[in-house]
Amino acid sequence: MNKAMESISVFDMLKIGVGPSSSHTLGPWRAALRWIDHCKRHGYFEEITEVKVQLYGSLSLTGKGHATDIAAIMGLLGTDPVTVPIERIQPSMDELAQSGTLLLNGELPVPFQKEKHIIFHKKFLEFHPNGITFSCVLKDGRKKNMNYYSIGGGFVVQKERKNAKKKREKFSNFPFPVEKGVELLAYCQAEGKSISQIVLQNELSLRSEAEINDGLRKIWDVMLDSMYVGCHTEGTLPGGLNVRRRAFDTHKNLMGSRPYSNPVEWIESIRDTEVKFRQILKWVSCFALAVNEVNASLGRVVTAPTNGSAGVIPAVMMYYMVIENHDANFADVRKFLLVAGEIGSIFKKGSTISAALGGCQAEIGVSSAMAAGALTELMGGTPEQALMAAEIAMEHHLGLTCDPIAGLVQVPCIERNAMGAIKAINACEMALDADPTKAKVPLDKVIATMWETAKDMTSKYKETSEGGLAVQVNVSDC
Ligand code: SF4
Repeated sequence: MNKAMESISVFDMLKIGVGPSSSHTLGPWRAALRWIDHCKRHGYFEEITEVKVQLYGSLSLTGKGHATDIAAIMGLLGTDPVTVPIERIQPSMDELAQSGTLLLNGELPVPFQKEKHIIFHKKFLEFHPNGITFSCVLKDGRKKNMNYYSIGGGFVVQKERKNAKKKREKFSNFPFPVEKGVELLAYCQAEGKSISQIVLQNELSLRSEAEINDGLRKIWDVMLDSMYVGCHTEGTLPGGLNVRRRAFDTHKNLMGSRPYSNPVEWIESIRDTEVKFRQILKWVSCFALAVNEVNASLGRVVTAPTNGSAGVIPAVMMYYMVIENHDANFADVRKFLLVAGEIGSIFKKGSTISAALGGCQAEIGVSSAMAAGALTELMGGTPEQALMAAEIAMEHHLGLTCDPIAGLVQVPCIERNAMGAIKAINACEMALDADPTKAKVPLDKVIATMWETAKDMTSKYKETSEGGLAVQVNVSDC
């Protein structure tokens, strides 16, 4: 797949969605919505009598564990992954199984049986490992096919990249177009601005300040909510691996009997707890585990930059709020998300955020780098130190494989978020104590290395569940 220069907003990198996977759940969901839109724009939506979904490559190999079939159906039903009530998903599947009829976009009934109309192909399409084809038969017997590719982080493209031109036009409107870390630093130095200030100027060329604040507030609310829900939900995760939710017990032990009745009071109560090094480790891990337990149970999380790695950024922001700065407020959240989004977009442009292309270094590695850089700005670090922190975080995730057991985003994924968050905090502290002019490895070099490593990795370790833990661990033992 060719890497094209593109304009990526913070709101492209951080998206509200549904678990468990951005490329295998959110992407196919959005692809289905895009396909419906295409059918409508081309005037044949009303003519459709039958629909098929074909999944290829990694989308097929780990599709069942990642709920790709459910996501595609939810998209075909016309529901929005940002707003659909999570508790509607399973009843929608039950109703479909009982009636054998799918209400396409909520309006056009077509016969549909999951087993017959969703086809899992082992083969890979050439353009990208995550291929999905929507096919339909029209009233006059004509057939139509459309291919989409879920390229990581919920991004969906068509091979032709018809949107690329539009995106490039927008890109040229950015006052500070950035493709590499070195360009970002040059703007910061020339303008005497922080990274978040530069990124804000770019965002302001796309939307108003009120819209930016509103969007970032919604993102943080979902992040906070996913930590809150995860810390207060006990039991076993769905999917058959019998993975026990752990955030609940860790949270209970750390919190004791302090009172609170909503997420905002919860933050205040956590600030009252005693924290030494061990408790800090446990709190950060607990926040990360909580988000990814919510993600694994098809809950609502923020894709940051993917769903499998959705816990790292909220956990590190929460660390800042409850440990480092008890006066932290939305202004800090805004800075943090702007910096994190920009660092993620530099990785996306220079390498990948798709585990199907780059393994877990593309998910946990990138999220850790995003969080490390963002935390560094909040801690008073310079833009150079922020990018150094991002580099350190990625340097120690290079080559990390993706090998989820049974194709579920649970083992090793959930714990890996805790590890990514802790590494981000450590990378920040090391960068804050360092002179970035003496750094041996600039951010852009580690991104290039990550991409070369991704290309060299065998496909067994790229979200296929054909290697590593996925084959070493017997599912029946779990
Ligand atoms: S191993 Fe990493 S990349 Fe693979 S699904 Fe889990 S979190 Fe995502």
